[in-house]
Amino acid sequence: MEIIHSSVMTIGIGFDIHRLAEGRKLILGGVPLDYPKGLVGHSDGDVVLHAIADALLGAAGLGDIGELFPDTDPRWKDISSAILLADVAQRITGEWEIENIDVNIIAEAPKLGETKRLIKAMIADILHIPASRVNVKAKTMEGLGEIGAKEAIACHAAVSLIKRATAPENRP
Ligand code: MG
Repeated sequence: MEIIHSSVMTIGIGFDIHRLAEGRKLILGGVPLDYPKGLVGHSDGDVVLHAIADALLGAAGLGDIGELFPDTDPRWKDISSAILLADVAQRITGEWEIENIDVNIIAEAPKLGETKRLIKAMIADILHIPASRVNVKAKTMEGLGEIGAKEAIACHAAVSLIKRATAPENRP
């Protein structure tokens, strides 16, 4: 049986972890949260958007965000990670359509409950995709390790991309 591939799908994974410290604003998935500590980073330290950016770059075969936005470059100092993610999206969406994004936020605190909906909406907004293509999950570490001790927050992301019919490889 001959299988005809009319489209190409790829997947990508991303992971990020940042330390929590006082005197920083906590921003997760582009959403500012009311919490006494925030994530330390050259940018705003948003682990959720960093993990998604890496997953997108992975699926598109374009390396990682450390290569695109080195933390030695003063241009990215304290920059909103929403700007970095939008930049990544712009690099890939001419050729690829974002099929879905799934996210695991690993944080002992704050409890994310209802905030997950806001983060989902924000991710969809930054990437100009329907919110139905984004899923946000949250877990604690049951008190184990640095994350369990509220010293850090981490995030995993997985994405799938579909090559657009108008992409160069798919043209007759
Ligand atoms: Mg990061």
